[in-house]
Amino acid sequence: MRRHTFLGAVTAAGVVATALALGAPGFAQSSAQRPLQIYVVDVEGGNAVLYVTPSGETVLIDTGNAGAAAVRDADRIAAAAKDAGVTRIDHLITTHWHGDHFGGMEEVVKRLPIKQFVDHGPNEQPPNPQQPQAPDFSRTTYPMLYAAGTHMIAKPGDKLAVAGLDWRIVTSNGDVLKTPLAGAGRPNAACAGVQPQDPDASENARSVGSAITFGKFRVVQLGDLTWNKELELMCPNNRLGTADLFIISHHGLAISNSPPLVHALLSLQGVLLGSKPSTGQAFELPSQVSATSHWPVSARQGVPPGCTPSAGQLALAPVHVSALSQTSVEPRQRVPAGVS
Ligand SMILES: [Zn+2]
Ligand SMILES: [Zn+2]
Repeated sequence: MRRHTFLGAVTAAGVVATALALGAPGFAQSSAQRPLQIYVVDVEGGNAVLYVTPSGETVLIDTGNAGAAAVRDADRIAAAAKDAGVTRIDHLITTHWHGDHFGGMEEVVKRLPIKQFVDHGPNEQPPNPQQPQAPDFSRTTYPMLYAAGTHMIAKPGDKLAVAGLDWRIVTSNGDVLKTPLAGAGRPNAACAGVQPQDPDASENARSVGSAITFGKFRVVQLGDLTWNKELELMCPNNRLGTADLFIISHHGLAISNSPPLVHALLSLQGVLLGSKPSTGQAFELPSQVSATSHWPVSARQGVPPGCTPSAGQLALAPVHVSALSQTSVEPRQRVPAGVS
């Protein structure tokens, strides 16, 4: 059963008011009036974000951690799906082949059928001579999983077929979008004086990044994309425009989230939403965004986050987004996850 919270009720009231203003009959909500819901699932240092469209189509970006945490993280993703009233994943985007992003996939598949698997191609992480190599999931287990659905290797500029959303791939496998999104492409003043860092040969630089437009609302989520690729994407011209919601890249690490990306995306206004660090890991927000972001509750730019969340209540942090407004990003009140 759907759990209504205070903020959820406010969102619902707004939707009803909109429906009446448009002359829609009664209280029935057509999909045009329902919100986009975004669940930033607490996978404790990894990433998993569930998008549920007004028509109930689902996109999951990443599946949390591997190993002993995989069951926990898959349970939390399934809890988010249950909260949204959905029973399948229509599109799974695996941003890159690091265990904190694909690790829960096998467990998620046991809970939620996945129709389309999207990635940048096989794992290209340079081997670490100090570590024994585990079998490469992207070349062994993964093809067996996507054999049950369809498989897409994403390229920048591709459009993911999600009804009601304009879902654009903007980075993949080290390549970045060349043609600006509609309305974007202006010179980016935040590039001034910003230098590239050392080349990043890791999987992070190959992250599949998405820019998702829903009416007037845009959210950008770029996985663990690192600094130099951000500069390729955003300099000298900003090919993404602005975003109303930015899911913080790379767990908030300062080797991502460069000023040309963050300042340009949020130059009008914006909301940052991060992911919780794993225990013991310093969660270092880049200084230029430290006043505007917090996990898991989003805060409008310039408003200090009034939230110090404690573990155990963080698994679900859905954001309801109206297609009719550029600014109404309302985090629904956090609800207990019901899972540990
Ligand atoms: Zn990561
Ligand atoms: Zn990574």
